[in-house]
Amino acid sequence: MKQCYTCGGSRVTKRTGGFSFEPPKNLSLKENDVWVVPSAEWFECEDCGAQYIPYALSRTLEDMADVRRRHLATLPTDKEN
Ligand SMILES: [Zn+2]
Repeated sequence: MKQCYTCGGSRVTKRTGGFSFEPPKNLSLKENDVWVVPSAEWFECEDCGAQYIPYALSRTLEDMADVRRRHLATLPTDKEN
């Protein structure tokens, strides 16, 4: 990847390390829930901060969402509120 699709900038660099992101609201257990993939690889625009997630990382994120979905399915439904 050589060019940012968001701003058209050319400083899109490969990043490695912990990738943190906000899960979908229906999968978060608390306010401002953040999930972290410990050793991830992705691309990021140095100009606008846009992130481009490779297939491998997107699969990891989907797997994490699946685990959370299954976990939520085991919880009793909250009827208090
Ligand atoms: Zn950009």
